[in-house]
Formats: sequence, structure tokens, C-alpha cells
Amino acid sequence: MQMIYFTPGPSHLYPGYDTYLAGAMQQQLGSINHRSQAFRDIYRFTDQQLRQLMNIPQTHGIYFASSATEIWEKIILSTVEQHSFHLVNGSFSGKFYDFAKQLGKSPKEYTVPEGNGFDLKAIEIPAETELICTTQNETSTGVQIPEQELADLKDRYPDKLICTDLVSSAPYAQIDFSRMDCAFFSVQKAFGMPPGLGVWIANDHMLQKAIALKQSGISIGAHNTLVSFAGNYQQFETPSTPNVVAIYLLGKIAEDMNRIGIEQLRKTIDQKAALIYQMGDETEGYSALVRRNEHRSKTVMVLETKQSSADIIAAMKQHGMVIGSGYGKNKANQLRIANFPATSIEQVQHLLSKLPR
Ligand SMILES: *Cc1c(COP(=O)(O)O)cnc(C)c1O
Repeated sequence: MQMIYFTPGPSHLYPGYDTYLAGAMQQQLGSINHRSQAFRDIYRFTDQQLRQLMNIPQTHGIYFASSATEIWEKIILSTVEQHSFHLVNGSFSGKFYDFAKQLGKSPKEYTVPEGNGFDLKAIEIPAETELICTTQNETSTGVQIPEQELADLKDRYPDKLICTDLVSSAPYAQIDFSRMDCAFFSVQKAFGMPPGLGVWIANDHMLQKAIALKQSGISIGAHNTLVSFAGNYQQFETPSTPNVVAIYLLGKIAEDMNRIGIEQLRKTIDQKAALIYQMGDETEGYSALVRRNEHRSKTVMVLETKQSSADIIAAMKQHGMVIGSGYGKNKANQLRIANFPATSIEQVQHLLSKLPR
């Protein structure tokens, strides 16, 4: 049976993915040299499509790593001498903080209970902070930070670098890159691709910090540093042999999203999100984990369930649909439903009609 994946990564493949993949194979992109003009043209094309889709200005470079997890590490190594500050509200934001500790830095965290968002206006960031680490969409709890609040945070702390994890919200999230130094995502979530590619967007302030750290003798790592990425980017190349096929496919999917238009894409996601939250709010036995509307993610919903979520997941498999379990200790009594562009309104309606009551 062909399944529909509502899992928040890896997720359902974007419609047309097969065709784009067949095109890549026909052009033998798995074998082309990554220092060739053919590859540089692919990189440039994907770069242009992402800029258009996510409104990324030329002040920022776009670099390709292997995963968002890798990018967490490279961000800390490249731009933090000692002090990162982390807004933590779930497993992913928590791991980012943990990476900074493991890398020998002295990070600070501000943690709220699961399912809660932040009151950013009330948070005082310590003076010594070099980099503020945020997770715009916390996939483990379905909590988002409103984009405007991130921009306001940068306005309050213009001299600190700020970065945000968009792994499960790009390209839906509307980031004002004039007030965001760095963002990143990986392709197996809302872009509907198989895993294996991380995308790192960083501006010149990030790069200058990396250069300064390196010059002062602090290790910024050896592989995929911001300095090596930016150097290679001058020629639309990468420090090591990249996932050429995935970079090509990301460009094709972003091109298709541009054809649809980002506004239309967001509208459809909003409509599907409203259906899912309405179900959670109105159906006996289900409730949305996140109470406050402005903190509710539009791309990943977490529902608390009265029945065992494993039973619900098993029942849904019989109907050809795969939904995610709760994350970590919430595995047994929560569901996570991805609301990415790859699934249609009709498919979401079908999902909701089959959830056991
Ligand atoms: C999935 C996810 C990650 C990790 O992405 P990988 O590509 O698996 O490294 C990081 N942050 C968030 C918010 C995620 O949802």
C-alpha cells in the first residue's frame, strides 16, 4: 500500500519528486564532478530559487552541509568563543544547547516547560552573550516563536549575533533577514525530500566573527567551517564533495514552490493547520498540547491523546497513513502531525476523518 506520511521528518515526499529525480538520473548528476561548471550552475540555480522563495538577501550566503545537526555544531564552533545563549523549549532546542556544552563553551539557557512558548520581551540576555540561539519551530513540542518577536529581539540586542533553527518551518516561516544573522534547515521536513542535506544561511557578521576567532588561534573546527564554506561559495563550490543530486532536487522543488507562490503555499498550510487544531480543540479524547494560539506551530501539531497513541498510530497505518508519536518521554500519550506542503487539504481531511474517536 502507498502510505501518506504525516511524520515530522522524514516526511511525505514532495509531489513531483520522482520526476525530478528521474531528471537528475537522466542527466547523470550522480557522477558529475563537483568542481565543474555543471555543478556550479546547479548550486547557483538552487541558491537563486531559495533566495526568491525565502526572501534571502545578498548579505547572506547559502551553504550546504549534511544535516541540521551538523550545522548546530558548526555554528557554535565558527561563531562562539565562550558565550552562547539558548532559548530552550523542547528536545531540539535542548540539543543545540547541549552541543555548546560538549564543545567546551560556557552556554546559558532559558528554559520553559514543554508546550509553552516564550515571553521574549521579558527575557534579559546576559551582556557577555555572543550568539543568541533560537528555535523558531520546536518540532518536539509543536511550539513556534512568532517571526516578528525574533526581529524585535535583534532590535533589542543589535550587537549580538542571532540565529534561528527553521528545520521544520522553512520555507513557511517569514524571516526578516535584515534582522537575522543566521538560519538553517534540513530538507527532509517541509521541503519533502529524503534526508541528507542541511542548508545554512549566514551573513557577513557571522563570517567576520569566524574569521576573527580563527585569527586569534581559537579552533573553529576543520571541516565545513563558515570560513571554508564562504571561501568556496565565491565559485559556487563546497569544501568537500557535496550531495549534488539533493542540491539539484532542492532547487527543482523550490522552483515549483515559487511557481505556486509562497503566499499561496502559506495559505494552504494555514487552512490545513486550522482543520487540525479545530479537531484537537473540539474532539473528545484529543487536545492540542500548545494552548496559546500565537505559540501554536502551523507546520507541526502535537496532540495529546486519551487513548494510547501507539494504538492510534497502528489504526491509522491500516488506513494508509503514518503519523508521528510523541517525542521522548511523551511517546505514549502524544501524536505529532506534520503539516508540510507535500500533503493536500483533502489528505488532511481524510486523516482527520479516520482518527479513532
Ligand atoms: C529534525 C530537526 C533537527 C535535526 O535535523 P537533522 O537534519 O536530522 O540533523 C534539528 N532541529 C529541528 C527543529 C528539527 O525538527
